[in-house]
Amino acid sequence: MIHPLRRRWISAWAPSPREVDIPGGVCSLSFDDVPHSVWSEGKAVLDRFDAKATFYLVGRLVNQAGYLSAEELQTLHAEGHEIACHTWQHQRLGHMSPSALKADLERNGILFGEILPDAPLQNFSYPLGSTAPWHKRALGERYQSCRTTIPGLITGRVDALSLPAFKLYHDTVDWTLVKVWLEEAQAQNGWVIFYTHDVSTSPSAAGCTPEDLARLLELAAELGIPVETVRQVTHRISA
Ligand SMILES: [Zn+2]
Repeated sequence: MIHPLRRRWISAWAPSPREVDIPGGVCSLSFDDVPHSVWSEGKAVLDRFDAKATFYLVGRLVNQAGYLSAEELQTLHAEGHEIACHTWQHQRLGHMSPSALKADLERNGILFGEILPDAPLQNFSYPLGSTAPWHKRALGERYQSCRTTIPGLITGRVDALSLPAFKLYHDTVDWTLVKVWLEEAQAQNGWVIFYTHDVSTSPSAAGCTPEDLARLLELAAELGIPVETVRQVTHRISA
């Protein structure tokens, strides 16, 4: 049930309505910023479950110390993971003018066009969760979806430029709730997206452990919920 005010807000600002009705539900796992530990400590877990994830990259951090190299991004892409957009500069969209955002996204697009010429960035996540309604039309022209940090299940008629997601942070994760969200996605033919940052045995406050990743993937497997990239799911939901 969508709150009436939220429904009105969606219709006013949503150039990309979608109908989500995926029998049995689906789950996506996403990483924002993508610190290098995702590669060095998280990837082995993804590989063990043969799970494909969505990586929202910040262009200016590529090839920088502590982050992924262009070659590592090419490997992830070749293995079926999705490389997606988290802007070049990682500023709050609420603090950016339309022209500043346009320049930022174009700069990012040029970099990733060189790294992955056959895979333009199709999906976006808002840096620091900062959404800004006045940017949505421009974002809708470039991307299939935009992921927020607002918790929620994606089902029924939704705004693809305002997709909710649940955080998977080691310090705060409630596994009883994670199971409920997955079960609800299954029961409501919905889509549940999780997001985190680093993956480490001693993660930051915005990261998780390799065991957390494994536990989530085990839960999804036990419930029979497929894990797909955001790109795969957006292709499955109709306009
Ligand atoms: Zn970020």
